[in-house]
Amino acid sequence: MLTKSRYVKGLQCPKCLWLDAHAPEKASVSEVQKLQWQQGTDVGVLARDYFPGGVLVTGFGNHQCQQKTAQLLAQGATCLFEATFAWEGLVVKCDVLRQVVPGTWEMVEVKSSTRVKPEHLEDLAIQWYVVAKNGIALHSAVVMHLNPYCFYPDLSNLFTQVDVTADVQQIVQQIPERLTQFNAILSQTDEPDHPIGDHCDQPYTCTFKAYCWRDVPEVSIFQIARLDKQKKLELIHRGIFHIEHLPPELIPTLSERQQAFIQQYLSGEPLVNYDGIKELLNQLRYPLHFFDFEATNPAIPRYPGTRPYQRVPFQFSCHILTADGTLTHCDYLHTDRDDPRPPLVQALVQAIGDEGSIIVYNQGYEKSVLQELAAMMPEFAPQLNSMVARLWDQMVIFRDHYQHPDFLGSTSLKKVLPVLVPELSYQELAIQQGDMAKFRWEAAIFSDDLAFQAQTWQELRQYCHQDTLAMVALHRHLVGLVDSQ
Ligand code: SF4
Repeated sequence: MLTKSRYVKGLQCPKCLWLDAHAPEKASVSEVQKLQWQQGTDVGVLARDYFPGGVLVTGFGNHQCQQKTAQLLAQGATCLFEATFAWEGLVVKCDVLRQVVPGTWEMVEVKSSTRVKPEHLEDLAIQWYVVAKNGIALHSAVVMHLNPYCFYPDLSNLFTQVDVTADVQQIVQQIPERLTQFNAILSQTDEPDHPIGDHCDQPYTCTFKAYCWRDVPEVSIFQIARLDKQKKLELIHRGIFHIEHLPPELIPTLSERQQAFIQQYLSGEPLVNYDGIKELLNQLRYPLHFFDFEATNPAIPRYPGTRPYQRVPFQFSCHILTADGTLTHCDYLHTDRDDPRPPLVQALVQAIGDEGSIIVYNQGYEKSVLQELAAMMPEFAPQLNSMVARLWDQMVIFRDHYQHPDFLGSTSLKKVLPVLVPELSYQELAIQQGDMAKFRWEAAIFSDDLAFQAQTWQELRQYCHQDTLAMVALHRHLVGLVDSQ
């Protein structure tokens, strides 16, 4: 049966539509994806506060919700949340359906993004089609998204409403043809043969990616930077994913950089520019601070002066290496619901003095967080700006001077570390990546379960500690490498 969510999948990919109906067990959803969906749901629920007097349609199953919707409309309701309608088996739920003038209605789709995206228009179009078929006179369609210029604590302008009626009406005209097409796909007995490609992540990361991409190796044609779209499509159609299997006649048509990447990968040998590494290492000044932040970015701002999705650091880890080889560690983890920034900055200026390099991995992130903190707390601006000036990016070495086939075409710390320092692994850690750290922290600070909190604090400390210890280990490896020359 074609549902609204299947219709949306069909827009992304016919195979996805078919798999959802015939082989849903092949889908896999990461914990991070689930938490992102939950964030979208939370925004939708909050948006209801901006429609006073609205009534939430509740019931067991779609059929009951449809009946409840019809009943509420018959009783003269003028604003409904989750109003439910069906047409030829296709069920839709409207985030908000409100009366503009008696007998004429507006549909509002709430989105947790900070702008209107093409997929939002598609969402509204299918709702419009089904709602109109139910005899509801629609006047307008609106996307209500988060306003990037709303600053906590004034949330009166948290949402921006954009009238997209004209665009939606245009799409509605194409729906009957699409429905015929999608129903035909659903009635097929065999899985459609549809190639993988960029569409697997656009507009959404497909839940069948692990299944469809099972033959794509870790280093594949997708790691060839800026590979021409047409060439990529041709390779996908021919089922060529391994770099080893690239057609020889293709290589000379690629750019110098792309050819260098392929040759280096095929050689199986590391590529090390000792002079380049030495020159960068010579820039370092003791004491060396190996430093990392973890930050949250809540969709709904909750700290003074922050806007939707603004990064707010809640944790840092710092390993300090002095010229005599002594290594010490300090960190800060915020474990309360209040603003983490003031105590974190105080701990930060105490941990990192006025001297010495601050070694980070991919400095853009730490740099912008430090600058935002300086703007928020001008009394600490001199110290924070001094830290910005002393940042030194370890990743540059692996981007420009040190490539290894086992890095799998990546410069990420998680890929470089196990190759150069195999004894230091993330595998044993409960938290293995930054997004997970953020979601775990969010869950723990809003939990009343003390045991869960204590465990989360420990896991977060281990994770962040590992990030900075990894940089220390890589630093020692690099120093040993250039010294051995
Ligand atoms: S992973 Fe890609 S090809 Fe496979 S179903 Fe999803 S979108 Fe389609």
